[in-house]
Amino acid sequence: MNRKADVVIIGGGITGCCLAYLLSKKGLDVTVVEKRYLASGATGACGAGIRQQWSTRENALLAIQSVKIFERLSSELGQDIEFRQGGYLIAIHTDNEMEQAERNVAMQRSLGLKVDILEPERLTDVVPILDVKGMKAIGATFCPTDGHANPFKTTFAYADAARKLGATILTHTSVVNLKTTQKAVSGVVTNQGTIRTPVVVNAAGVDAKAIAEMVHIHLPITPFRKEIMATERLEPLFDAMVISFTDGIYFSQQKEGQIVGGIPIPEEHSGFLSTPTFEFLSHMSRTLTRYAPVLRHVNMLRHWTGFYDVTPDARPLLGPVKGPQGFIQCSGFSGHGFMISPMVCQLLAGFIADNKTSEVLETLNLSRFKGKTTDRELSVVG
Ligand SMILES: Cc1cc2nc3c(=O)[nH]c(=O)nc-3n(C[C@H](O)[C@H](O)[C@H](O)COP(=O)(O)OP(=O)(O)OC[C@H]3O[C@@H](n4cnc5c(N)ncnc54)[C@H](O)[C@@H]3O)c2cc1C
Repeated sequence: MNRKADVVIIGGGITGCCLAYLLSKKGLDVTVVEKRYLASGATGACGAGIRQQWSTRENALLAIQSVKIFERLSSELGQDIEFRQGGYLIAIHTDNEMEQAERNVAMQRSLGLKVDILEPERLTDVVPILDVKGMKAIGATFCPTDGHANPFKTTFAYADAARKLGATILTHTSVVNLKTTQKAVSGVVTNQGTIRTPVVVNAAGVDAKAIAEMVHIHLPITPFRKEIMATERLEPLFDAMVISFTDGIYFSQQKEGQIVGGIPIPEEHSGFLSTPTFEFLSHMSRTLTRYAPVLRHVNMLRHWTGFYDVTPDARPLLGPVKGPQGFIQCSGFSGHGFMISPMVCQLLAGFIADNKTSEVLETLNLSRFKGKTTDRELSVVG
């Protein structure tokens, strides 16, 4: 291989493929390099929930603007990404959580989001199978325009649209090093050869830290194994995603009828261990049936793991770094990268192609960790 490109994107997950599409649309010659197959990283393992209810303004803005893009994405890309809006019901268990929920809702409403705080007796209006006493909820927030999409179909649709616009997508090709000249990136070395380029986007998910180390940049990303399961298919029971920050559980019913959800095991610690555990099955089934006792005779059929790429403030790392020019970060999504990918990639495409920056890109730059305290995202599960 002896190639060149305007931009090389490392990683064929949702962000790599979305960005490839947007940059190709702007007329740039883009190559995506993916070491396995498309969506083989966190994207293919994820719950693919789409929620706009965040505690930090930047995440809320990114998610609200992304939902507007998701709403028209199937028609824009010419493929059904199975986007649907059943809402997110976030359980509130304590007075402290209620105070935080009131702050969150005020901020979210100031950005134009329709979101409410529900009294406990109204939770079953949204999700009839809940046992409000069993889940120990004193209320919930609910946003009806939150939702879900198919992560594989969304990634493949972006990749197909990018290819049609001229992008090259190399799968089963690993990036093994980066080339720099003086103060800028100049190429990407793969196990199949070198690609010359002035712009490299690091969209390698949990491996983004290892990629950055190739040019001596330290990204504060910690890998966390996350387990997730799917039950057998059931008749339609509810539309919303249910989550709890106290219990760490999230679950929803998919279009085909299965319940998909996850929860962290109590003794979870960081690292690259990816083995599924029996503790998860036990903890998940106990908590899920406490929330929805009617599910106690339902069979779990599948159980798998994926990694969160967690940053110290649970917010993404985006944009350029103080280091080689042309080395752009798109990682650190800390468990919520699918839902904000459309807007994150729109901002990055504007920066790369048109040199346009924004308040959100500047706030979420790596430089925020240099000696300053940053706003931590509090609305995270697990
Ligand atoms: C169990 C679980 C549930 C989740 N649920 C949700 C959810 O409900 N909603 C939500 O928004 N998010 C969720 N997430 C998070 C979401 O999946 C991620 O934030 C998002 O998919 C990140 O996409 P990405 O493109 O940045 O990374 P990835 O999808 O991880 O893609 C990175 C790609 O880079 C490739 N790569 C790595 N190193 C190299 C190399 N050296 N050379 C070439 N290629 C390389 C990998 O193979 C991988 O395919 C969940 C994650 C998990 C694990």
